[in-house]
Amino acid sequence: MHASMAVILFLMNWLGAALAPLSAPVEVQDVAAFYTYGENVTFQARVTPADEITQAFLMIQPEGQSTRIEELTWNSAGEILYPYDTALHPLRPFGRTYYWFRLVTPTGEITTPSYWFDYIDNRFTWQSLSNDYFEVHWQTGDLSFGQTVLNTAQSALEAVQKILPVAPKLPLKIYVYADANDLQAALPDESESWVAGHASPDLGVVLVSIPSGPDQSLELERQLPHELMHIMEYTLVGDQYGNTPVWLTEGIASIAELYPNADYARVLDTAMGKNELLSFQNLCSAFPRDASSAFLAYAQSTSFVRYIYQTFGSTGLSNLMREYQIGMGCEEGVQASLGKSITGLENDWRQASFSISPIDQAFKTLSPYLLIALLVVAAPLLVVLARPRHLEKPL
Ligand SMILES: [Zn+2]
Repeated sequence: MHASMAVILFLMNWLGAALAPLSAPVEVQDVAAFYTYGENVTFQARVTPADEITQAFLMIQPEGQSTRIEELTWNSAGEILYPYDTALHPLRPFGRTYYWFRLVTPTGEITTPSYWFDYIDNRFTWQSLSNDYFEVHWQTGDLSFGQTVLNTAQSALEAVQKILPVAPKLPLKIYVYADANDLQAALPDESESWVAGHASPDLGVVLVSIPSGPDQSLELERQLPHELMHIMEYTLVGDQYGNTPVWLTEGIASIAELYPNADYARVLDTAMGKNELLSFQNLCSAFPRDASSAFLAYAQSTSFVRYIYQTFGSTGLSNLMREYQIGMGCEEGVQASLGKSITGLENDWRQASFSISPIDQAFKTLSPYLLIALLVVAAPLLVVLARPRHLEKPL
């Protein structure tokens, strides 16, 4: 083909393309999400040209939760502002939320790339410090307090790994509140009012509340190992975490605390004396919600799990957790792993911990009236037994 002919053909093609009613490509810009913690999130975007869109959807996928689809409206400039009510559909505290847009046009559908934001409690400003293992964020206190948190977390991690030798996904995020009430307000509504610390093990997030004062270090050394242990437990059992007995998860977390709660022994002795110990079968799926029963449940679970740990060791405890990881029930897991029923194990624990047998305990707690009633029933029997033998019928 002659060169000038080729140029003419090219120009004709170009002119034809320029004159055709070609639709402009749809663009999504100014994407952002703003939130007020615990209240709402506003998702923002601008879609141009606006008249190319027939329908628009926002897809929201908070970490560890299912995806929500919300239908959107937009103005003539293509501006989208979508208010999302977090009181109605709570987001996981300190979790990452992914979101993207799906736009319907006459020629097809467009899905934008995924965007994300971390749902941080922005009622407060946080100071931060990190290393390979931890990201520490604290609310009040100076840099040396942050370093103390980081150091305590480091030694707590080593301590908890001696009990359950597992490697969690790093780095772990630690948020230190100054006030337990602020921490409780940061959690979804179902949290109990006596909660001081919290872990979202699947997110690798730990929240603790450490008021300033002389007990600060002690509280750190108590709360951090406890909450970090919940993350170890999750690393071991994964999705079965929610089906693992609560007496076991809380018991293991509590034996990891560097300073045992001094009130546990007193509460246990009192409950034992009154025969008011809780049955571990009733502590499989949840602890009582009222503070004093919950305290007893913690005290018992700590003592029971410490007994299991001292008797069967770290391997025994890990093997027991693994039974739940494969989906065993609360009682079956104990039987399969430790070769005893949960009631049998509970009796062993009582004997080892209180130096009193279940029979002794039953007699000790019989009411005086019941004793009298027993004597009344037993008296004729004693008379029968005391009869002279010669009155018996000869064989
Ligand atoms: Zn706990």
